[in-house]
Amino acid sequence: MQIGVIANEVIACFKRWFHKRSFIIVSEHKVKHISISGGFQFSLVMALVACLVWASYSTGNFYAARSVLKERTQALRSVTSAKVQNNFNSVFHVGPASTRHITGDDPEIASLSAPLVTPSALANNKIFARIATLEHKVIELTNTNDAIVQRIRDKTAQRIDELESIIKQTGLSTNDLKKKHADKAPPADNRKGAQGGPYIPDTSLEMWPQANEMFESLDKLAMLRQIMRNLPLDKPIPNAEQQSQFGHRIDPFNGHLAFHAGLDLTGADGTNTKIQSPANGKVIAAGHNGAYGISIDIDHGYGIVTRYGHLSSLNVEEGQTVKKGDFIGTMGSTGRSTGPHLHYEVRYHDRPMNPLNFITAGRYVPEE
Ligand SMILES: [Zn+2]
Repeated sequence: MQIGVIANEVIACFKRWFHKRSFIIVSEHKVKHISISGGFQFSLVMALVACLVWASYSTGNFYAARSVLKERTQALRSVTSAKVQNNFNSVFHVGPASTRHITGDDPEIASLSAPLVTPSALANNKIFARIATLEHKVIELTNTNDAIVQRIRDKTAQRIDELESIIKQTGLSTNDLKKKHADKAPPADNRKGAQGGPYIPDTSLEMWPQANEMFESLDKLAMLRQIMRNLPLDKPIPNAEQQSQFGHRIDPFNGHLAFHAGLDLTGADGTNTKIQSPANGKVIAAGHNGAYGISIDIDHGYGIVTRYGHLSSLNVEEGQTVKKGDFIGTMGSTGRSTGPHLHYEVRYHDRPMNPLNFITAGRYVPEE
């Protein structure tokens, strides 16, 4: 009974709102009559309501999605910030960084996320990251430097061994030569001279013992090279032929066993053969010298003197400094000589040494 009353009310209401409507449209002097049924009007109203509901639903979804995105961005920033801080702590050993567990909801990380949004905190994080990168580069550079220093030390040690071995072949003592070299060096006080400038303590070398050892080795190598330049390791005649060797032999004049204190050398140009100084030195004698005939003595330092006998002429005078390879005189047959040749001696503290040992050792001198 009541349902019937409600139904009648609804039908009455529907008929009141959606009764048939007529419209009269006047267009270009013509009159048109349009009639719209109640059912069509109801359909139009329902379609409008559906559009409004859909628009409201979409707007709600958009705002909800934007809110979720914002939260996720914030969480990502928090985790990134925490990682940067953790890296910094690892490099500078601040706290138990390596054991810290990093998650987005960690309260410690959450506290870090707050300063991240301020420009100064962002700048700090960038500086920490930069410092960590630079620290890493410093470690890399130090390792590279150590490797370079080690290579130089190895190469220097190898070269020192080579030079000492060459000196040993000559029959001289490397330690004696080094000692003489040190004695010859001017005292430390005299070396200072007129100098000045600000005092800069060389702490870098104190902190780097490998470098100190490297410089000591390089000094030692430089000293050995300087000694080598004064050793008569070259032939006084480049393409000499050896006629008589150092040591005991039968004397060519009287046929008796005698000691020959040098080498007898001849050259392809006979009496025109030029004699060259085999090393740097200073002429300490040049002229007639008994059985040696016209003779030259050159002091090479370190107690070493070379002598050139039976010359025909001199190209140097006493007191003159000569360099390795300088033309000093011409071959001849003056003094106690059977024919044109050079009598060549190497003396160490006036004790004759075998010149051939020097010439042989000279073949192993590396080029500088
Ligand atoms: Zn001789």
